[in-house]
Amino acid sequence: MSHERFTFVLQSSLMATPRVRQLNFRREDGTPFSSAPGQFITLHLPWQDMELRRSYSVATIPGSVDDVQIAVTHVEGGRATKLLFDMTPGARVEATGPFGRFMLRDDPPGRYLLVATGTGISPYRAMLPQLRARLDGKQHTAALLLGVRGPDELLFGEDFVSFARENPAFEFIASYSRRMPEPPVAHARKGYVQDHLMELKPDPTRDIVYLCGNPDMIDTAVERLKAIGFDNHNLRREKYVSSN
Ligand SMILES: Cc1cc2nc3c(=O)[nH]c(=O)nc-3n(C[C@H](O)[C@H](O)[C@H](O)COP(=O)(O)OP(=O)(O)OC[C@H]3O[C@@H](n4cnc5c(N)ncnc54)[C@H](O)[C@@H]3O)c2cc1C
Repeated sequence: MSHERFTFVLQSSLMATPRVRQLNFRREDGTPFSSAPGQFITLHLPWQDMELRRSYSVATIPGSVDDVQIAVTHVEGGRATKLLFDMTPGARVEATGPFGRFMLRDDPPGRYLLVATGTGISPYRAMLPQLRARLDGKQHTAALLLGVRGPDELLFGEDFVSFARENPAFEFIASYSRRMPEPPVAHARKGYVQDHLMELKPDPTRDIVYLCGNPDMIDTAVERLKAIGFDNHNLRREKYVSSN
């Protein structure tokens, strides 16, 4: 399938955490960019005599701003990382999309278990209004688990903490692998997100599990979930890997 190629112009950027840069784009031609919550865009970045294709999940909460927001983890020695972290407002970049099927579907009543490491949280941020509608319908509940090293890396944490405060059917768990917050907070757990997922006693008869981010985390979680009866109809995943 061919996809339209267009130009994004960087509007602004900021360090959202010590290792994650948030970039806010708009289409140069003024056409509003629309995507389904959970989808990603692909940036086409010139690198030496080649073109890098790098994908990034759209993190924008629909209806909140006109910008297309992405969050980029700093990868040591990463080529796209360097280009994107050095980009200044007004810079242009070619893009295609939106792509992907990592989206909420018309699922029967049950519990969503949404699991992320690092910037893998972005698609769930875009899903927040949809999630709110499902939780309001009283037929779904949801738990979101975000794995990062420490509290300073809790990307978009405030969005999820306040969403949990407003929605009793939603639980937010931050899994800290290295550093715990001081003073302690209720949503913080020490350890790895894939272990905390299993502590929620996933049940293949009523749960749907979404996994996004680090490929090793996803492989470990999928192996454990398949061992207790999950299969491709209730397991949905987006692995963050480079394509060239
Ligand atoms: C569907 C999809 C959505 C994605 N969404 C996001 C997103 O929202 N945010 C985001 O930051 N990334 C996302 N990624 C990953 C992103 O596309 C790039 O792979 C990432 O930015 C690294 O590219 P790079 O050119 O800087 O590194 P490269 O030059 O490709 O890699 C440099 C070195 O780092 C290693 N490496 C590559 N990626 C990582 C990593 N993530 N962690 C540790 N080591 C790594 C490589 O194996 C290599 O050794 C997504 C990937 C896919 C497929």
